[in-house]
Amino acid sequence: MESRDILALGLGVTPPWRLADQRLDTDRSPHVLEIRLEAERGAMFACPVCGRACKAHDFKDFTWRHLNFFQHHCRITARVPRTDCPEHGVRRAQVPWAREGSGFTLLFEQAAMALVREMPVLAAARYMAITDKRLWRIVEYYVARGLEGIDLSGLRGLAFDETASRRGHNYVTVFIDMGRAERPVVFATPGKGKQTVRAFKAFLRAHGGRPDRVAQVVCDMSPAFLAALAREFPQAAVSVDWFHVVQLFTRAVDEVRKAERRHAPMPAAARWAVLKAADGGRLTHKQAAALAELEAGDFLTAAAWRIKEKLRWVRRAASLQAARWRLTCFLRHAREQVAEEPLLDAVARALDTVEKHRTLILQRWTSTYSNARLEGLNSLFQAARARARGYRNTATFITMIYLIAAPLADLFNSI
Ligand SMILES: [Zn+2]
Repeated sequence: MESRDILALGLGVTPPWRLADQRLDTDRSPHVLEIRLEAERGAMFACPVCGRACKAHDFKDFTWRHLNFFQHHCRITARVPRTDCPEHGVRRAQVPWAREGSGFTLLFEQAAMALVREMPVLAAARYMAITDKRLWRIVEYYVARGLEGIDLSGLRGLAFDETASRRGHNYVTVFIDMGRAERPVVFATPGKGKQTVRAFKAFLRAHGGRPDRVAQVVCDMSPAFLAALAREFPQAAVSVDWFHVVQLFTRAVDEVRKAERRHAPMPAAARWAVLKAADGGRLTHKQAAALAELEAGDFLTAAAWRIKEKLRWVRRAASLQAARWRLTCFLRHAREQVAEEPLLDAVARALDTVEKHRTLILQRWTSTYSNARLEGLNSLFQAARARARGYRNTATFITMIYLIAAPLADLFNSI
């Protein structure tokens, strides 16, 4: 076997294509192995529409970046014909080593996709010596194709939440299938309003799903979301995620702390002490001391914090009946604490919100799904932000969320 045959074999070139020429261009750094492919004279080519074998109408040179040949870059150039089909006219033929419109071979793209599964896109782009913009185009193509195959016919439980691509900007709403333990993200879309729920409904229909079969939905207390759900999924039992209830009070405690700080000097570690204790985080010695000082000093921040902590007691209720009773007690007791204390206004507003959505909050005790999956979204968002760093916008952020957490089964197999 000659070296040319070995190279042709490695490239997977099959008739009518054959290796015509190979040359190592040492004028460039890194060196480039230039490979030229051509079709046998008089060969017939498949019409890209119907597959009929047609004569070549004319030819044009195209070049693709291929996998490195040892330490050298590698480019493939071929004279690609246009077919002359009696039915479909003159069209550019497809080549077996690259997809239409791409400047890379399929093997190069496959290697790129394997890398971006493991590392940030920017790092993968540097490794493959292409711009991250071009790599994003590859990733977006394969993720979009993988999404086409998502089957939502079995979707019965839905949860969604919004997040920002950058702090305070470019919101994205992410929908998860509560029935999927692995890769639960089935839809992500720009925005955070009612139109996202409508967009999901259309996506669900387009992927074999039935909106009227969605029995349960878990979300936060955003009025826009709740109104949209009532309209688009009227039969679904909506429950408010407990995580968002806690978040509501965590923010209120922080507001009280900021307001009170203007009137009274407060221990420096107070901020993290009151925020962390809620999440069950372990306090440092300083933070524990700050918390004790807040309590001893009769600070209203401490009163707000105690109200928030009391939520744990509600959360631990073993039945719907017990939860209903505990929530009633919690609201009554907390109301007494905040009454006629303007500094505790933020907590009073949080209590109003809970009161208003009381039924939806209690729904969690009858829901068959755990809240853990929605909470897990936060770490997913963080990972997606990190992996899309450098070239992050709403579109690349969404693509990365899908790549990390959507069930894109045929992403690599079908290449
Ligand atoms: Zn045709």
